Amino acid sequence: MTGQTAPAQPGAQISIDVPAKINPHLGVGDPRADGYHALSTVYQAISLHDTVTAQRRSEGNGEPGIEITISGEGAGTLPTDEANLAYKAAKLIALYAGIEPDVKLHLNKRIPVAGGLAGGSADAAGALIACARLWEVEIGDAELERLAAGLGSDVPFCLKGGTAIGSGRGEKLTPVNAKGTWHWVVATTDTQISTPDCYKEVDRLREDGIGRYSSDVDPLVRAFESGASADELARLLINDMEAAAVSLRPQLASLMHGGLEEGALAAHVSGSGPTVLFLATDVKHAVALARRIRMRGGAKSVHLAHGPVNGPAA
Ligand code: ATP
Repeated sequence: MTGQTAPAQPGAQISIDVPAKINPHLGVGDPRADGYHALSTVYQAISLHDTVTAQRRSEGNGEPGIEITISGEGAGTLPTDEANLAYKAAKLIALYAGIEPDVKLHLNKRIPVAGGLAGGSADAAGALIACARLWEVEIGDAELERLAAGLGSDVPFCLKGGTAIGSGRGEKLTPVNAKGTWHWVVATTDTQISTPDCYKEVDRLREDGIGRYSSDVDPLVRAFESGASADELARLLINDMEAAAVSLRPQLASLMHGGLEEGALAAHVSGSGPTVLFLATDVKHAVALARRIRMRGGAKSVHLAHGPVNGPAA
């Protein structure tokens, strides 16, 4: 058993908090032969998190199996069956262990859905850890990471947290020792962008000569390692998907401009969007900026977050 898993007592309920991720650098290359795009990215875990709670289904009145319930963001609209990434994660770990799955998983979601913040991937990471602990599965970190990568490119990072370089399709991780804390205002919008649609738009724009692959993560990594100021960081944020996200949802441009007018150091689309991240100087600035962005309208919800934070925690 790894450090992430410890035996569960009968009747135990295991709760894991799993943070959202942002990509302060997201370089998108050409599609590979397997259909995935090559990525050069820097991930950072931020202080918005979902909580995944697991208990044996058979210890209530239920039959063994996998049952998912959801509260918070996306409750009532997200799938609770096989289509839910947490369900897939539970099934995968049972298959790995050669046991019948027996779990009731509750997802308390605070991470905005389909916002480029990897909420589904965070739940999958949380379900892997919670089920491994509940069922006392002997599994090493490397093997857990391999299962995570099979569930989605962002899931291995969601197991780790902190700051890391992601290469391959994002699943190959190199930890970064970031020295500092950076403050963000996270503004969601009332539209959604599917990640595959956003990749398609990146490819379409490239065919028209718009955008190129930002493969060099070194300047940003050095900035994190040296504890750069938010001002310095603002100049180094890169997202190769930003033009595609704005092309699909033009209203993002006015949200971004609005935040900059209100004093954000930078406006940065989160992953494939449509969430927009505004960088603030410090926590006091972030609080004031969030208030001004809220008052301006145009965002569905406005949250404060800081990063990096540690990965999944019980
Ligand atoms: P990513 O950036 O990892 O592509 P995202 O942050 O943009 O993802 P998610 O919140 O992970 O978006 O949700 C994307 C889609 O995944 C949702 O619209 C939903 O249909 C599906 N999904 C499956 N399981 C979950 C889950 N547990 N939480 C959220 N979405 C889920």
